[in-house]
Amino acid sequence: MSSPNHQDNRAVQQDARAWKAFTQSNYTAARRWITSPLSQGILGPKLSARHLVSTLETHPGLASKDGTPCLGNDGYGGSSGWNLNNEEGFARLCLIADFLRLFTPTSGDDNAKISSYELKHTAERFLGQYCTEAAYISNGELIWAAAALGLPVTGQSYGSKNLLIGISEAEHRYMRQLLNDPAPRAHHHRPAGLDFLQEMLPRCVNGEILSEQWDKPSTVIEYSAFHLWLTEQSRRNDRVGDFTSDYIAGVEMNEHKIAQSPSDLLEILAGISHSPDAYDSMVEAISGWYATSPDSEPIRRPMIENESGSHAGYGAGPGSIERLVFRCPCGDGQIIEEHENIPGFREHDHWFDCAKCKGEWRFAENRTVRDWAIIPR
Ligand SMILES: [Zn+2]
Repeated sequence: MSSPNHQDNRAVQQDARAWKAFTQSNYTAARRWITSPLSQGILGPKLSARHLVSTLETHPGLASKDGTPCLGNDGYGGSSGWNLNNEEGFARLCLIADFLRLFTPTSGDDNAKISSYELKHTAERFLGQYCTEAAYISNGELIWAAAALGLPVTGQSYGSKNLLIGISEAEHRYMRQLLNDPAPRAHHHRPAGLDFLQEMLPRCVNGEILSEQWDKPSTVIEYSAFHLWLTEQSRRNDRVGDFTSDYIAGVEMNEHKIAQSPSDLLEILAGISHSPDAYDSMVEAISGWYATSPDSEPIRRPMIENESGSHAGYGAGPGSIERLVFRCPCGDGQIIEEHENIPGFREHDHWFDCAKCKGEWRFAENRTVRDWAIIPR
């Protein structure tokens, strides 16, 4: 029986021979490129040169029935020759594969929506930050690496050399935003492997062979019942429909987080510029939510001041007054919670110090003064 090390060596030899034949280079050079630290595979197994060559010759989307490759360096149907007869070539394909492994694949070819040309620019900008080997990526190389990974690769439009690649549009948008201004403000679409790739790329560039492997987590985004309800309301043909459509777009565009609760939604709106009408529409939406889900947790507001202090008392000894100030829902006033702890004089109270909110919100029933929470009237 051969040792694992021996099998590895054999695989490298076979790969080097295949790459030598494909690139018409010499064996020693091909072997060096294949064993480069940049080619080791960061977010997945090392790409095999034999698999890359066979993808080009047998992939139903990239080769004709007789095995003639239809992919060139400049794209589908392209005729320009590959620029792979150098160390960078093989490493670049492996780095593109690691970049593409960041994204959740779409289910099936029909959902492939991202142009290979757009994607190659994103890959260049991301990988180019770490190494010159991938500062320029050809359209054909991007398509080739995607096909080798088994991603949906489809949909050539007439006369175009670009194909559509099946990866999550939302995650790709996040990466584009990360490389541009303004940066994303919410991170629910951040690719799960990004931190690991960002940490490992410089080490690979420094020549390190990594001992760590990336454990791919489940990347399912958890949408709250409240978010799903808001999504349903976005089909309404009124101002609540307009407001919730804007909210959904904000989640899709990574402009703000997903609202787990009405409290979150208030904070989200407070964090972005909005019209008074948007606020009123939100209150109407939240009101509708509590009408359909009366058991849903009522809303707390963030504290902005704690004005507690001692009090000389009224003859029976000193005490304290605790006055907690919270931001009201509209943001123009306050909710006050007050506790007078003075011997012979104890009182606990809360109230809206905002005329607008006083008319629109009330304290939820069956809660103590300290445990107050609010719902729309
Ligand atoms: Zn208010």
